[in-house]
Amino acid sequence: MAKIRIYQLAKELGMTNEELLELLDQMGVAYKSHASTLSEEDAEAVRELVKEQRGLQEKLAEEERRKALPRRPPVVVIMGHVDHGKTTLLDYLRKSRIAEKEAGGITQHVGAFEVKTPQGTVVFIDTPGHEAFTTIRQRGAKVADIAVIVIAADDGIMPQTDEAIAHAKAAGAKIIFALNKMDLPQADPDRVKRQLMERGFVPEEYGGDAIVVPISAKTGQGVQDLLEMILLIAELEDYRADPNAEPKGVVLESKLDKQAGIIANMLVQEGTFRVGDYVVAGEVYGRIRAMTDADGNQRKEAGPGSAVQVLGFQELPHAGDVVEWVPDLEAAKEITEERKEERKAREEAEKERRPRTMADLLRALQEEGQKEVNLILRADTQGSLEAIQHILAKESTDASHREQLGEVKINVLLAQVGAPTESDVLLAQTANAAILAFGVNPSGAVKKAAESKGVLLKTFRIIYDLIDEVRSMVKGQREPKFKEEVLGRAEVRAIFRLPGGKQVAGCMVIQGKVVRSAEVRVLRKGEEIWKGKMASLKRFKEDVREVAQGYECGIGLEGFDDFQEGDIIEVFQMVEVPA
Ligand code: GDP
Repeated sequence: MAKIRIYQLAKELGMTNEELLELLDQMGVAYKSHASTLSEEDAEAVRELVKEQRGLQEKLAEEERRKALPRRPPVVVIMGHVDHGKTTLLDYLRKSRIAEKEAGGITQHVGAFEVKTPQGTVVFIDTPGHEAFTTIRQRGAKVADIAVIVIAADDGIMPQTDEAIAHAKAAGAKIIFALNKMDLPQADPDRVKRQLMERGFVPEEYGGDAIVVPISAKTGQGVQDLLEMILLIAELEDYRADPNAEPKGVVLESKLDKQAGIIANMLVQEGTFRVGDYVVAGEVYGRIRAMTDADGNQRKEAGPGSAVQVLGFQELPHAGDVVEWVPDLEAAKEITEERKEERKAREEAEKERRPRTMADLLRALQEEGQKEVNLILRADTQGSLEAIQHILAKESTDASHREQLGEVKINVLLAQVGAPTESDVLLAQTANAAILAFGVNPSGAVKKAAESKGVLLKTFRIIYDLIDEVRSMVKGQREPKFKEEVLGRAEVRAIFRLPGGKQVAGCMVIQGKVVRSAEVRVLRKGEEIWKGKMASLKRFKEDVREVAQGYECGIGLEGFDDFQEGDIIEVFQMVEVPA
């Protein structure tokens, strides 16, 4: 780049001369006047600095804008092992909010409810199970900001606790551990804390940052602390939403009601929905006819953080579908139609390129720029699970392997005793993970689910086979490398024209052999002018599979009809190079 005068650079950057001179002073660049010439390096440094400052200003402005928005309540999901007290905790919270109101107030199930405290409001998602959570997340909506993982203090961490942790982590939700059933004499919170530490969650009292709150869902002891913790996180994370933005929500549940027709429970995340609005959710559309909130009130409008029952969808939307506002019926129809077609095309494409081996998966990940390989491990005993994890951990930290692995990191999302479940498949699909099982067999339904969702699921009988699978992936051995192997060459001696313009070359095999199924290139004066597949290979009138050196043959090519005498047809194949 040529040298530039100060006033020219100021113009380029949209600054006044004075502003630029001031900047040069700050940078310690000497000049005589705004007509002075700058060195290339100085000019470039100025450009960089201005760009940086403007980026920073933009960020600050963005942050300012966000700060000006009203806060919204945190959205919380309760997860955990069966019988550890999820339902009881939700019941307790629900009752506490009713108690605040007039006794006997009518409530309506809308898939979520609010608990108001003097410190603020919390929205609890009230749909059963963490499977619903995964489904919702999978459809692209990040619903819960915070996951409360309930662990019965008399029972400790159980398989579904680990699953819940994996799901919450994969969704990027903040996690709070609620040690429940503290009212029982056999409650052993220290044991649970040890179990948490084994999983890398160090409670605050031991200097870590895992939040652990002892509660009793039955007596209500500690539930206030739990609410305070949730609100503390909300304060730190500073959740905000724009009530004037284009409205957006997520379907929590949907059902067909005999009287009311299609009912969708929706959580509003952004903007304000109004009765009469046209909406789309996934592949279905509708016009909001009525909205009812958890207190049974009819609502004309619903803003961020509100959960409402919506009437007016034409078909059943799915849980997890994002609800979007559209200007009119025409747009609604158009968008949903487009989505249906896109999905069909996607399903077709997915069928074609379903990952089948670790190497395929790895390649797919790399193509998508993902730098992690996610695994879900399943094994017959805790012992084998630990053995596998131990070896894998070594594998991914070993420097010599790292080198070959490049930046790719092995991530074990979930390691659990027992056969793979459909929930694993859901998690694998969302997190782009492979399921490797040792000594346990998935049921037919799980296999089918994996197949239809394109999830790689493999079972092993021998630990080292499993490790080998991962190891070869790590070393990139399974990524086959191909090289070209020339099989033979034939020289074009005569050209025959068939009706329709198709050409056949009468050839002499001058080296090696010509193989019908192999690939070919046409060389003219030593230069490749075409590459592709053979359409026909004949000796006299007979179709043949191959022709050896010294024999004549007729060759037709797929899509090439421009032979000249003296062209060389080179026949080659791609062979895999062993690593
Ligand atoms: P979920 O499967 O996680 O929804 O568990 P539930 O809420 O259905 O609770 C399972 C059982 O544990 C029920 O019999 C509850 O009454 C009981 N339970 C739940 N929380 C507590 C608690 O804090 N203390 C005691 N003693 N029992 C509880």
